[in-house]
Amino acid sequence: MEDMSDKPRLTVLAGPTAVGKGTVSTYIRDHYPEVWLSVSATTREPRPGEQDGVHYFFVSSDEFDRLVSTGDMLEWAVVHGRNRYGTLRRTVERAMADGKSVLLEIDLQGARQVKESMPDATFVFLAPPSWDEMVRRLVGRGTETPEEQQQRLETAKLELAAEPEFDFTVVNDDVQRAADEIVSLMGLLPHPR
Ligand code: 5GP
Repeated sequence: MEDMSDKPRLTVLAGPTAVGKGTVSTYIRDHYPEVWLSVSATTREPRPGEQDGVHYFFVSSDEFDRLVSTGDMLEWAVVHGRNRYGTLRRTVERAMADGKSVLLEIDLQGARQVKESMPDATFVFLAPPSWDEMVRRLVGRGTETPEEQQQRLETAKLELAAEPEFDFTVVNDDVQRAADEIVSLMGLLPHPR
């Protein structure tokens, strides 16, 4: 009989804006070298401390266009109406062929595209501990106008409604705990604490 445990796995982690996907995936990158975390291409500018090839491949708009037109993007999306982000198909396929446990941390639009092309992947929804906590995180930054805050909350409601499209929900009540749960869902052993 075929041993499913030896199969390379692709796991997609998505969830609403400001739920802490970036923090959880950074934790996984720093603590679980056995997870192959995909490095996306993006047209946005690097933030201080971000390195090309580590956090993202920072590309020009023309280069992104080229990657889309040559079919090199497994999925891609415009995030927050501004910049484009995409997963490089070949690097992911190579890692899967090498038997690695691959994790994509992408937005909901991207997750839906992967579901179309790779329905056998595991889809994990990262959820906030509560709606109130989500509101606190979204508006708490204090950098947006009331209109922008309202817009973000409307978007968050729509994003939360996507949860039933996913195989599993992980609640981000604690970064380390959520990261360990995701790693377990990937079929890997979480580290003992
Ligand atoms: P940031 O600019 O803060 O690093 O990321 C913004 C958003 O882009 C996050 O919600 C993240 O999930 C999403 N994102 C990062 N890489 C990709 C990607 O390759 N594809 C898609 N669809 N979204 C991505």
